[in-house]
Amino acid sequence: MPKPREYSETGRKKLPHGRGTRWCKRCGSYNGLIQKYDIMLCRQCFRETSTQLGFLKYE
Ligand SMILES: [Zn+2]
Repeated sequence: MPKPREYSETGRKKLPHGRGTRWCKRCGSYNGLIQKYDIMLCRQCFRETSTQLGFLKYE
């Protein structure tokens, strides 16, 4: 379950930019977020879901 990060739920001040404005849609992490291609997942979740999303693993 993702942590509640929506502004309505956390009561945080809405900032136009900076840390805390974007978070992983899967686990709620602020770290290592991938915004490329509108993925909006942290790199850990991306790693886990990339194959399901149709991204090929290059290792
Ligand atoms: Zn995540």
